Amino acid sequence: MRPPDLTQVTSIKNIKTRFAPSPTGRLHLGHVLSAFLVYAIGKKVSAQLFLRIEDHDQGRSRQSHIDGILEDLTWLGFHFESSHIYLQSDHFDRYESYFQKLHELGYTYYCDCSRKTISRRIGTDKSQLTYDGYCRNRNLGPGEGRGVRIRQESYTFSWKDLFLGPQVQTFDGLTGDPLIRERQGNWTYQFAVAIDDLVESMNLIIRGEDITHATGGQSYIKSLIHGKDCGAVYGHHPLIVGPDHLKLSKRLRSTTISSLREQGIEPEEVFRQIAKEIGIGERKNPIGLSELIEEYWNGRT
Ligand SMILES: [Zn+2]
Repeated sequence: MRPPDLTQVTSIKNIKTRFAPSPTGRLHLGHVLSAFLVYAIGKKVSAQLFLRIEDHDQGRSRQSHIDGILEDLTWLGFHFESSHIYLQSDHFDRYESYFQKLHELGYTYYCDCSRKTISRRIGTDKSQLTYDGYCRNRNLGPGEGRGVRIRQESYTFSWKDLFLGPQVQTFDGLTGDPLIRERQGNWTYQFAVAIDDLVESMNLIIRGEDITHATGGQSYIKSLIHGKDCGAVYGHHPLIVGPDHLKLSKRLRSTTISSLREQGIEPEEVFRQIAKEIGIGERKNPIGLSELIEEYWNGRT
């Protein structure tokens, strides 16, 4: 994983970036890679570093996981100023007020369709469901068991990804209107993240490439509020997967950081594994976070 060219980042003023884990479990090596890249790139461009705990889904988030994530990050050596650490659950009023704004403008509507009724209506498997717009013009009001969807109009978003290169995502009106609030009342990932990134002026967004598909939709939501996309730089990094590494690091890959710690493994051992994942090579010796950041950038050719 070659360190990215940061030319497009250095022209930004007041750079802000965030590491944003969901407290639905404990951190594992994949999270550490993500935190490392946010941290290494953020430090390189003198960004303000934020830790956003994405507990928008109150059904799946646990306080014990929030505490555990903070503990793991501290143990690994990641430092976030206390004023730069927050929970999405602190922002429920924020999401409500932006939803109301969008609703007044006619961009959203209530929907009472369950996945089951949608799949019955359009005749496809639940796993391949594209919402058919059934409630778009029903003028439903709020109520028990009603979610909220956003009208997804034609929209194209292109960006130069720090890791993936040029990207284009197009919505042609056939992609289905995404939920911004579920029928059970949870704000969706897509909405909560778009609103937080917009309100907090996050302009450097580093995350795993499994999230790439969500970027155009988040840009669309931001553009409805802001009038246009607000011009963040995105970098979707490769994940820790693949048969090449499976044999060597299966134990580290599938184990949580807390259980590694309990086994007596040191942070430097964890970062040695990260060094291998980002292509700094087979290291004989363990390596600390600061040293790894330095080697990461020295490895740039
Ligand atoms: Zn519906």
